[in-house]
Amino acid sequence: MNYDKIFQERLEKLKQEGNYRVFADLERYKGSFPRAKNYIGNKERDVTVWCSNDYLGMGQNKDVIAAMSDALEKCGAGAGGTRNISGTNHYHVLLEQELADLHGKDSALLFTSGYVSNWASLSVLGANLENCVILSDELNHASMIEGVRHSRAKKIIWKHNDVNDLRNHLSSLDPNVPKIIAFESVYSMDGDISPISDICDVADEFGALTYLDEVHAVGLYGKRGGGVSERDGVADRISIIEGTLGKAFGVLGGYISGSKEVCDFVRSFSSGFIFTTALPPAIAAGALASIRHLKSSEIERADQKRKVKHLREKLDQHNIPHLSNPSHIVPVMIKDPIKCKMISDILMENYGIYVQPINYPTVPKGTERLRITPSPVHSFSDIDFLVNAMNELWSQCALSRVVA
Ligand code: PLP
Repeated sequence: MNYDKIFQERLEKLKQEGNYRVFADLERYKGSFPRAKNYIGNKERDVTVWCSNDYLGMGQNKDVIAAMSDALEKCGAGAGGTRNISGTNHYHVLLEQELADLHGKDSALLFTSGYVSNWASLSVLGANLENCVILSDELNHASMIEGVRHSRAKKIIWKHNDVNDLRNHLSSLDPNVPKIIAFESVYSMDGDISPISDICDVADEFGALTYLDEVHAVGLYGKRGGGVSERDGVADRISIIEGTLGKAFGVLGGYISGSKEVCDFVRSFSSGFIFTTALPPAIAAGALASIRHLKSSEIERADQKRKVKHLREKLDQHNIPHLSNPSHIVPVMIKDPIKCKMISDILMENYGIYVQPINYPTVPKGTERLRITPSPVHSFSDIDFLVNAMNELWSQCALSRVVA
């Protein structure tokens, strides 16, 4: 059997659909991000990055970098093993304490990524709570979907952000079976925000655990960066808050926070925690510094809000269609995979603007988009340059506009 031929045929189909992914070869410049060097073959050029999830530029914050360098000098490179065997470092302990405090919980548990934290936690909870039913929002992230799948628990998908639909499903279940409501606060592709308080009301009514993914909200929302649940004053009503250290905190890693019992349970039974090497101490030290910084500094969050507002206003002035939402994510809708990739390529090629096309399976077919994430490290003139370039392209390529 010619395995490579099979792979090649599938890849060819992906290319024809316009869904084949090409990654820009970039090197971020510390201190001047969003500028980055783009390698193309043996050539190089400078570009501006517009699609990073380092939402607040914390990946180049001086305190974060100093903390990482210091930990690297003190502890060396890796953690040296799984935490079960030999890998728990004092920075992991400090970071878990900081995360528990961030969300007002008893405890927190670190993982190597947000993906792993969702996958590992939902799979272990669903598998070990006898007859558990997991009620999952229809737009939940792949990591949650995989966690639910792996748990083999009964799964119910409820309509996106629709509390009535959730209530209907809950009311059809045996009151005595354990139930977990799994949802996100900020949905990363449309940038909409869930009605957390209403979901908690329904959870209380039916005795369900709440599992909230705050990956696109931690660091960004709430007075101390505790996410939308902090902003809305409902963190204490959520059983498990999950987050990442790789987006607004600018480093790498994931976690859950909750009661002492639930964190200890996941720590004790989850293969995704037990059987993998712990985060390097320098990574934990950097995340710790980032969380501490964003707990007390409003500067980055306030500046980001100004930049997001400016971008939306500029797009509106030029009638460039973007989804309106209450978050920091600005999706510019193209609705065609080939055009989406083509526009992204021209922006990079002709204007040094890097915004990755977002195609299927990240979003449903027909909703392809450019997902723009303005941050405090973009200047107002960067934004003007971006929108002017898009405006030129919209005219040249006869792309549809909206009446503002
Ligand atoms: N949850 C959501 C909603 C996400 O969008 C992502 C990643 O984009 C993750 C979890 C995974 O987080 P991480 O990138 O830290 O693995």
